[in-house]
Amino acid sequence: MSRDMKGKGYTRRSFILTTGGAAVTGILYAGGGKVFGVTQKPDTWDNEADVMVIGAGSAGFSAAIHAAESGAKVILLEKMPVIGGSSIICGGALCFAGTDMQAAEGIKDSNELLYDDMMKVGGNENIPSLVQAYVDNQLATYEWLKTLGVNFLKIGIASGMSVPRSHYVKPADVLAILRDEARKKGVTLVMRTPAHRLAMDEKGRIAGVIAGTMKKPVTYSARKAVILTSGGFSLNKDLLAKFVPVMAKAMAINGLGNHGDGLKMAWAYGADIKDMAYIKATFGFDLEAKTISEDFVLMFYQGAIIVNKEGNRFVDESLSYKLVGDAALAQKDAMGFQLYDAAIREKGMSDPFGRTAGLEKRGRIVSAPTLTELAQKMNVPADSLERTVKEYNADVEKGGDSKFGRTTLVASYGKPVKIDQPPFYAFPSTAAILGTYGGILINDKTEVINVFEESVPGLYAAGEIIGGMHGVAYMTGTAFGKALILGRLAGKTAVGGQ
Ligand SMILES: Cc1cc2nc3c(=O)[nH]c(=O)nc-3n(C[C@H](O)[C@H](O)[C@H](O)COP(=O)(O)OP(=O)(O)OC[C@H]3O[C@@H](n4cnc5c(N)ncnc54)[C@H](O)[C@@H]3O)c2cc1C
Repeated sequence: MSRDMKGKGYTRRSFILTTGGAAVTGILYAGGGKVFGVTQKPDTWDNEADVMVIGAGSAGFSAAIHAAESGAKVILLEKMPVIGGSSIICGGALCFAGTDMQAAEGIKDSNELLYDDMMKVGGNENIPSLVQAYVDNQLATYEWLKTLGVNFLKIGIASGMSVPRSHYVKPADVLAILRDEARKKGVTLVMRTPAHRLAMDEKGRIAGVIAGTMKKPVTYSARKAVILTSGGFSLNKDLLAKFVPVMAKAMAINGLGNHGDGLKMAWAYGADIKDMAYIKATFGFDLEAKTISEDFVLMFYQGAIIVNKEGNRFVDESLSYKLVGDAALAQKDAMGFQLYDAAIREKGMSDPFGRTAGLEKRGRIVSAPTLTELAQKMNVPADSLERTVKEYNADVEKGGDSKFGRTTLVASYGKPVKIDQPPFYAFPSTAAILGTYGGILINDKTEVINVFEESVPGLYAAGEIIGGMHGVAYMTGTAFGKALILGRLAGKTAVGGQ
């Protein structure tokens, strides 16, 4: 321990729990009074708050705003010099059901259908009560965002949906609105200040946070709660190697603070984890992708097929783009071409972010008047590419897919179409990790749950840091969605509301 830390009254000395004999949850300790993984609260704090929120992404702002609404003193810590994490660079799809926008377009959706779809796409591995919490709180979150002035641009169909329910926003606008709202509600936002340990009081409750650096710690009390909203761990190679070594071949595009800090902090107090094995990469990115806003296209949900370097299909293209990602990473050079014709391109050009047009302009999508010429440009065997398309078209005509069983465009929506209207297009694509959708176990009140199925007193979590919402795969819009929805719930429950 550094001298600085001693000077601050912050110690890691042996620690005897005085609980009057009551069981204390989430604590690992060995004989002789030596304590591991537990940081004792300091005698005095540098800063005091009712609620400490760790990480200024969409979950953090949502939690901070709702905790502050009760009059609580809320401090939101952000380790980076900018707010927003993955939220601010995301694709802007938010999954809501039963909205006025859907109704205006004649789309019939409901909580029940959303619940069923989320469980189905998650392979029923997701935790029903967490999915129910999403479903129960989603519409109110949509309405809340509208009240704040969030502009929903359009609705689209995407991975795992039986009806169009991706409500698109500009994420940077949303984060700016949330930041302003947090200020209005009196939340103190502290930038460039990473939290690195939680501190526990003598009753076994999480009582605050040790932030700053280990050399120069700054302590923050949390009289009511600490809410972890520090996002995922896509940029932490050690954690990825520990939980999902198969993802080593995938690129990662994420908020720059996504190192799993909060996960480790909660882990030290016995937090259980969920869905780590199902962390997946999303298929549809350019091979040299830097952002989702310019380098990502989902033509296969418009009717494209996906072929490998041998010119063969290798997957049912209507599956979640995460499952398609698994299949693509197993192909030569971990890639696949999205292959389509002029009619499918026409539909894909309606992408509100204009990605297809941009990729074409930059020469990342190749095209040719015949499949033979396209195969040359793709550097794949022309005979095999032509055979693949011919077989696929024949299957579509018969109303089936003899190779992979594709019966829809995406999930249970739409009918596959033939690829027969020149010119033809190919977009060489790969899979990128956009988030680690497994993480800390929480209950439907967002309380962190330990390995003995008990809540860790005083500790809450929301957003990408949690596991259990998605199961084996996720429905588009439910990650950004759960950050806002569960953040809201965490902020309220942490101060004793709802
Ligand atoms: C390119 C891309 C596209 C995506 N598109 C979509 C989409 O269209 N729809 C969808 O549903 N999901 C999408 N996702 C996933 C979704 O954006 C995220 O899961 C969600 O926004 C995460 O929100 P969050 O608030 O939990 O975490 P983040 O937004 O990542 O925020 C976490 C914050 O915590 C900070 N932090 C980390 N450690 C500490 C620490 N120790 N102390 C203090 N602060 C810390 C980080 O710097 C960051 O600011 C996408 C993700 C990416 C990367």
